[in-house]
Amino acid sequence: MQSLWNDQEAAQYQGDLQQRIYTSRLLGRDKTLVLHGGGNTSVKITEPNILGEDEQRLYVKGSGWDLEFIEAAGFSPVRLDYMLKLAKLSMLPDPQMVNELVTHMTRASAPTPSVETILHALLPYKYVDHTHADAVIAITNTAKGEARIREIYGQEVVVIPYVMPGFDLARLVAEIFAREANDKTQGMVLLNHGIFSFGETAQESYERMIALVSHAEAYLAAQNAWQLAAPKAATPDRPLRSDIAALRKSVSAMLGAPAILATDQTEKYLAFAQRPDANVIARQGPATPDHVIRTKRIPMLGRNLEDYATQYRAYFDAHAMLAKEPKTMLDPAPRVILDAEFGLCTAGRSAKDAGIVADIYDHTIDIILRATALGGFQALPAKDIFDVEYWDLEQAKLKKSGKPLAFAGEVALVTGAASGIGKACVESLLARGAAVVGLDINPAIASLFKRDDYLGLRCDISSDSEIQSALEQTVRRFGGLDMLVLNAGIFPGGRRIDQLGSEEWRKVMSVNLDANLSFMREAHPLLKLAPRYGRVVVIGSKNVPAPGPGAAAYSASKAALNQLMRVAALEWGADGIRINTLHPNAVFDTGIWTEEVLAARAKHYGLTVDEYKRNNVLKTEVTSQDVAELAAELCGSLFAKTTAAQVPVDGGNDRVI
Ligand code: ZN
Repeated sequence: MQSLWNDQEAAQYQGDLQQRIYTSRLLGRDKTLVLHGGGNTSVKITEPNILGEDEQRLYVKGSGWDLEFIEAAGFSPVRLDYMLKLAKLSMLPDPQMVNELVTHMTRASAPTPSVETILHALLPYKYVDHTHADAVIAITNTAKGEARIREIYGQEVVVIPYVMPGFDLARLVAEIFAREANDKTQGMVLLNHGIFSFGETAQESYERMIALVSHAEAYLAAQNAWQLAAPKAATPDRPLRSDIAALRKSVSAMLGAPAILATDQTEKYLAFAQRPDANVIARQGPATPDHVIRTKRIPMLGRNLEDYATQYRAYFDAHAMLAKEPKTMLDPAPRVILDAEFGLCTAGRSAKDAGIVADIYDHTIDIILRATALGGFQALPAKDIFDVEYWDLEQAKLKKSGKPLAFAGEVALVTGAASGIGKACVESLLARGAAVVGLDINPAIASLFKRDDYLGLRCDISSDSEIQSALEQTVRRFGGLDMLVLNAGIFPGGRRIDQLGSEEWRKVMSVNLDANLSFMREAHPLLKLAPRYGRVVVIGSKNVPAPGPGAAAYSASKAALNQLMRVAALEWGADGIRINTLHPNAVFDTGIWTEEVLAARAKHYGLTVDEYKRNNVLKTEVTSQDVAELAAELCGSLFAKTTAAQVPVDGGNDRVI
C-alpha cells in the first residue's frame, strides 16, 4: 500500500481543518481502505466562539459524506468537553446519543455527526483516521484473528473485541485504551470491523494508517494469502435475458417494489460462484458491520428465492426474541445473488444502489478468499449481524431518503435516442427514476449521458441480431425491461408517388415498420416479466390521421405501425402490457430542422418562422420535451388503465379535430 501524500499538493491545504480534508480525501481515494461513505476521520481544534472564549471542538465526518470528496461542510464541529462528559455515562441509547451530538454542534447547518463521534472524542490525539481496510478485515475475520493481529502489530496497536458501533463501543474503547495504550501506540484494531490510526499532524496519522495496513498486507503476502490466483471460470454462451428477468421479477415481488438487478459475468465473479465450496465460504456473513446494511446477512446462491426467504424468516425468528426491543422483519429479498451463470447479481431500488452493493461485494470476495487462504473466513456471530441489520439508526437513515421517484427500480429502453424526441424521452425517464438504455445508429449514443443509470448502445434496429444483442445487454446490466419507447424512424425528403422508387419505399418501411415489429416481438417476453407490467409507447405522427401529399412512404409506414400497435394491445392485454401511440406534429427542435430548412418552409407557406412554428389551433410551439414528458406519463399511473390510445401532441390540428 502506497502513501499518496504529496508535499506540493498538501501545501495547498492550509490550517488544521484543511489538512484534515486533504488526508481524508487521500484515504477515500484508496478503495481497499474505504468504500462508499465508509470510514471516518476527525481533528480536534481550539477556536474562539462568538463571545471570544476559546473552545475545543472536534471536527468529525458528518453522515452522508464520502471521504474521497469531503469538504469543510462535510465535517460536523461538536463541543469536545461535552462529548467527554457524555462518555462517562453508564449508558446512552442510540437515538438519544444522536440527539446529544446534534444539539452540541457549533454550526447549525452541519450534517449529523458520525455515530463514532464519542469514540473519536475520547482518543487523546489531535488527528484520528478510521478505515475498514480489506487486509485488516481479512485477517481479523479468521479463527485466530486476534492472535494474528497481536503478532503483526505488537505494541503498535490496541486491540478491541467486536462491539457494534455506537456508545457501547466508545465506552469499551475508553476502558481498554486507558489500560493498554502507551507511547508506542500508533493505532487501534477493532476486530471484525476495521482499524484506527492517530497522530499529532494529519500527515503523521495518515502515514501511520498506510504503514499499519501495509504490515497487514505484508503478513498476508508472507502467508501466500495476498496475491489471489487468476480466476478460471466457465462463461455462459447462451442468452440469459429471460432467466435474469424472471429472477428480477421474483426479487421485486419479495422486495415489494421494482428492483434493479445488475448482473456481472466477469470471470472473477463466475469463478467465485462456481467454486465447489461457494456454499460454505460465501454464506458465513458480511465482512464488517459497515457492509451489513447494504448487502444484508448473506448472499443467495443460485435462484431458489423461496428457500432463501424461508432461511431469512428462520434467522429473524431466532434472533428477534433476544433483541432488546421488538423488531419487525425487513423484506427478505436478497441484495447479493451469486449464480454460476449470472455471476454476481446485486439488487437495489436504483442502479446506483445496486452498484454500491456490487462494489462492496467485490471487496468482500477478496476478503473471503484471502481469509480462506489464511485458514478460513470467520464472520461475526449471527446475533451481532442481526443487531447491525436491524440497527434503528441505520434503518431510519435508509427510510429518510424520501419518497421514491415514480419509476424507481424500473428499466426503460428508447430507440433513436441520440437526438430530438428520443433524447428528450431518455431525460424524462431518467428524471422519473428509471434506469434507461438509449439505442441509436449514431455511435455518440454511448457517451450521451455519464451516469450509473444510463446505458447507451449503438444499434442498427433493422438487424434482428443487433436488437437481440441490445436486449441481452439491457437485461444483464439492469435486470429486465419495463418500458419501451419506439421512437426511431426516418423521414426522407418529400416525393410524390409517381417519383417514389421501390427502394426508398422499402427502406422507409424497413426502418419505420419492420424494425418495430422485430423489436416488439423480441421485447415481449421481457415486458411480460415486468414487476409492474410492461408499457410501450409508439411515437407515431400527425400523418396517421392527416396525411399530406409527398410523404407516401412515411405516412403509410406510420399508419401501419399504428395498426400494429392496436393489434399488440389486443394480444398483450392479457399480460397486462399497455401500448399507446403519440402523434406529434411540427416538432422543430430536432436535428433535421436546420434554420435554413425552417426558413424555407415558412416562406413556402407565406409565414414568418415564428408563425410557422405555431401554426396550430392553440398557436403554441411543440417541443421534443413536450412529447417526451407525455411519453413518460403514458407509462405512468395516470394512464394505468389506458391501452391502444392515440394521443395527439400538436397544439391542435384542424384537419385532425
Ligand atoms: Zn467503522
